[in-house]
Amino acid sequence: MNPTKGALRYEGKAKKVYETEDQQYFIVSYKTDATAFDGKKKGSIDGKDRVNNLMSAKLFQVLEAEGIRTHFEKVLDDHEMLVKRLKIIPVEVIVRNLAAGGMAKKLGLEEGTALFKPVVEYCLKSDELSDPMINEDHIAVLKLASEEEITKIKEMALKINEVLRGFFEKRELTLVDFKLEFGRFDGDVILGDEISPDTCRLWDRKTGERLDKDRFRRDLGLVEESYQEVLKRVLA
Ligand code: 5GP
Repeated sequence: MNPTKGALRYEGKAKKVYETEDQQYFIVSYKTDATAFDGKKKGSIDGKDRVNNLMSAKLFQVLEAEGIRTHFEKVLDDHEMLVKRLKIIPVEVIVRNLAAGGMAKKLGLEEGTALFKPVVEYCLKSDELSDPMINEDHIAVLKLASEEEITKIKEMALKINEVLRGFFEKRELTLVDFKLEFGRFDGDVILGDEISPDTCRLWDRKTGERLDKDRFRRDLGLVEESYQEVLKRVLA
């Protein structure tokens, strides 16, 4: 199938989503725009559209090969991919292997503190409320997902963590934490959104250097170069 781009269905901070002539699919178009801190910090990262598209495509294929269903269908060009049309569950699922970012701050832990098992967190996807952290009971009472769905989501998130941790380790990267989004398709819950330096914390295994969006958030410099370095290692 060679889809034609239809109406713009949705525009987010980092992606545009277009309809196609086929009700089953959307085209995701990645942007170079970068935002942080609830959109209060704005900028752009040259080449980020290509990095996030090609890195997500590769990782979705790696996960599919391990039996995890994703929305990925195919790469269309450097910054666009064809995906299954999911009904996104408005919950951000965060998996952490080391304390960093929000968790380090909230709990007074030093960034980089090892966790003896992965920590799974949920946040309500809501710009107005600044994505508050919620738990499985909140998800149930807000009717965001059924208990069966949330059990499946947590299982999938932990399996995805295992697969990605090993994948990145071979490429001399530590997967510190990452954010996933899931959606409904064909009566099943499958992985959607993207997996990129925008949504993962990735540190060089030897130097501990940050190679992800924290370089933009924290004005660390070498932002474009770090995104390109991650893509190079992912595609190696
Ligand atoms: P934290 O809660 O420490 O800010 O984020 C944990 C992990 O999830 C980080 O890898 C971060 O990049 C990712 N993450 C959490 N919320 C968001 C979000 O709203 N957008 C993006 N792109 N990533 C997020």
